[in-house]
Amino acid sequence: MADGACTHIEAIEKVKKAKHYECEECVKIGARWVHLRTCQSCGVTLCCDSSPNRHASAHARSSGHPVVASAQPGERWLYCYPHDQMVEY
Ligand SMILES: [Zn+2]
Ligand SMILES: [Zn+2]
Ligand SMILES: [Zn+2]
Repeated sequence: MADGACTHIEAIEKVKKAKHYECEECVKIGARWVHLRTCQSCGVTLCCDSSPNRHASAHARSSGHPVVASAQPGERWLYCYPHDQMVEY
């Protein structure tokens, strides 16, 4: 991992994977999403910033959970909201 990488991402030893490939909040309200992100603090899977409801970033702001992983098959990266930093793993 590069020097100066964010400590939130450095603290992650095992990446949490999506349990279901759906945004939990969008499912409740019948909305659609574009891509999915899995919170690395609590494991919830929510939609990305390209999605109309941006549930993942809303969750990061409201809960203070900093890091998400892409839940897209074949994508292996983590993103820290407060540091605006993306790291592949
Ligand atoms: Zn960070
Ligand atoms: Zn959503
Ligand atoms: Zn969370």
